[in-house]
Amino acid sequence: MRRKMVAGNWKMHGTGASVAELTRSLKAFDFPTNVDVAVFPPSLYIGQVVEALNGTAISVGAQNVARQAEQGPLTGEIAASQLADAGCTLALVGHSERRQVLGESDEELCLKFAAAQQVGLVPVLCVGETLAEREAGNTLGVVARQLNSIVDALGIEVFHKAVVAYEPVWAIGTGLTASPAQAQEVHAAIRAQLAAKNAEVAQNVRLLYGGSVKAANAAELFNMPDIDGGLIGGASLNADDFGAICRAAGN
Ligand code: PEP
Repeated sequence: MRRKMVAGNWKMHGTGASVAELTRSLKAFDFPTNVDVAVFPPSLYIGQVVEALNGTAISVGAQNVARQAEQGPLTGEIAASQLADAGCTLALVGHSERRQVLGESDEELCLKFAAAQQVGLVPVLCVGETLAEREAGNTLGVVARQLNSIVDALGIEVFHKAVVAYEPVWAIGTGLTASPAQAQEVHAAIRAQLAAKNAEVAQNVRLLYGGSVKAANAAELFNMPDIDGGLIGGASLNADDFGAICRAAGN
């Protein structure tokens, strides 16, 4: 039985003061105990968030990780080992804003995925198609390519200690959400693709859905058989909204 997971991606939002306020509210929230809850603050505030959430069951992750695991001369980047040292246990890899806006390639993301795992961070690999790709009927092909770039280079076993987030690009921050059936179709395809290599890995890996998840639509998405929780952007900036989504995952 896979445990549900709900993760909040705060993106490039927040100030020291607003992060303090948000973590205070999260700390006071009564989260369901049968859901793994995580937040991904901007790197600048990771230390503050780790300290503020100390003693809670909420994990802290990074939104990005350098392509090499150890510290060294790579200006502006943060090594996986430094993130782990700061208290992170997870790292997003390949969020669509990094793929689309910052031009990160499958090859680059493969290095980042490996660097995260090298020091024990759990990579949350984000995959998903653009609207044009969906309209051209390429959704499953695009997602399969993104997933395969990791499987082919690193092997299927790496998914023993990883999470996959299916995030259709057209649904991120747009208010458009994939229907539960649309999301389930892709999640089932991802699991089948992994199962073709290793059934046990496929059975155990958690597949999150992301893209305009709110308290109002979370339950029906999370009730689908291959959706194991959510990666939440906008709604994770409000502790009550995020908490309500976590509760929906716990029911
Ligand atoms: C995200 O950024 O990962 C995301 C899913 O954003 P939103 O929930 O705002 O669509």
